[in-house]
Amino acid sequence: MFKTKYVERVYNDLVEKNKNESEYLQAAQEILESLEGYVEKHPELEKQKLLERFLEPERFVQFKVVWTDDKGNFQVNRGYRVQYNSAIGPYKGGLRLHPSVNASIIKFLGLEQVLKNSLTSLPMGGGKGGSDFDPKGKSDTEIMRFCQSFMTELYRHIGPETDVPAGDIGVGGREIGYLFGQYKRIKNEFTGVLTGKGLTYGGSLARTEATGYGLCYFTSEALNTLKNTSFKDKTVVISGSGNVAIYATEKATQLGAKVVALSDSNGYIHDPNGINLDVVKQIKEVERGRISEYVKRVNGATYHEGSKGIWQIKCDIALPCATQNELDLEDAKTLVNNGVIAVCEGANMPSTLDAAKYFIDNKVIFGPAKAANAGGVATSGLEMTQNSAHLSWTFEDVDNKLKEIMVNIFKNSYAKALESGNKYDLLTGANIAGFEKVCNAMLAQGI
Ligand code: NDP
Repeated sequence: MFKTKYVERVYNDLVEKNKNESEYLQAAQEILESLEGYVEKHPELEKQKLLERFLEPERFVQFKVVWTDDKGNFQVNRGYRVQYNSAIGPYKGGLRLHPSVNASIIKFLGLEQVLKNSLTSLPMGGGKGGSDFDPKGKSDTEIMRFCQSFMTELYRHIGPETDVPAGDIGVGGREIGYLFGQYKRIKNEFTGVLTGKGLTYGGSLARTEATGYGLCYFTSEALNTLKNTSFKDKTVVISGSGNVAIYATEKATQLGAKVVALSDSNGYIHDPNGINLDVVKQIKEVERGRISEYVKRVNGATYHEGSKGIWQIKCDIALPCATQNELDLEDAKTLVNNGVIAVCEGANMPSTLDAAKYFIDNKVIFGPAKAANAGGVATSGLEMTQNSAHLSWTFEDVDNKLKEIMVNIFKNSYAKALESGNKYDLLTGANIAGFEKVCNAMLAQGI
């Protein structure tokens, strides 16, 4: 697995200390494998125990969240916040509400976030949090009571100069509103302590669209540089139908592509005529319904049970935007056999490690999550800047800045990929580009 003894030892120690945390170890393995060449060139890192220090989170908080449902029953959930690394700025990263959330998932997301935030070139450290609370089927008032209880503990660990959470799976504008309200009530402070806020209380225009749009800006730049082509007239398959998937669909369509499929955790829809996004937004954003509803409203579309079948649809570009490990080696082989030219990750770690390697080996553009989906946190960084300056920029201002950041993330990752000897290895490129800055800041600040 590893060529260098130092890296191998670090990984083995991590396995020993974090047994049964498969997602976390997967993310760490991917990062360590791509950093081997860099570590070989910088022997001082071993002496400084830099990899060990980088991999150990600065703080990991787990807490109890008790709330009452609409029937008056008490409910108990588990909350988490990992404050992973603050070498280049205050901790920053989303909150995930999903029944699968556990320490392993929070730590993998936190570790990825450190490198992602570094890639944006904005001064943000990495953190992540969430709970095993399942928002599906809950009323607005249940969501509100859960968010209030969650923030009643979280508030003591965060702050606009300390740690600034945002949304992720299961956390959108509604949840951020309830969390912000509770923070303000407890602290008696109106600050930019959360991002993804509503526009009437400090939110940024284009934050909602940012991850999906940013993913398409990154993909466009990669298509142009590596394949001398664009989204125009391409067939695109996108998994998920949440925030990232919806706005990736919107931007890909604006750029001239035809998006033919979307999914949720139950199944996927295939619309060979091109997804009607107004219908999807009505179902997902307004009614909070299931994607299967789509076929009842749009002629010619079909629904298929089981979300993984989506990768069998022939496409030029695939954008996995649902969740971790949703695309495995078999899916990668199917996509490559069907002629895919680019797979860029909107979700965090949606491709298994062997799937990612298969794309790279087959000269498919592979946009790793930490680079390709960094548009969300980058725009959160822009929201923080607007909050500190008590300003609000126009949609065009924010969108232009987002585009510039995504193009630069691609260029920096590509430059490091070229240096490492494989122009298709944007995974190694992104890991080195993100790590170098954090590593230098850590070295400068001492232990
Ligand atoms: P949402 O909650 O808005 O949507 C999540 C989507 O993924 C839903 O369609 C959901 O379907 C689907 N999904 C969740 N779990 C599974 C599963 N096990 N199998 C198949 N589908 C599943 O979340 P986001 O769109 O915000 O997040 C999607 C991904 O993007 C996540 O990996 C997140 O970490 C990442 N991301 C999000 C950012 C943001 O700004 N929001 C920023 C960067 C990354 P269902 O309704 O059935 O659960």
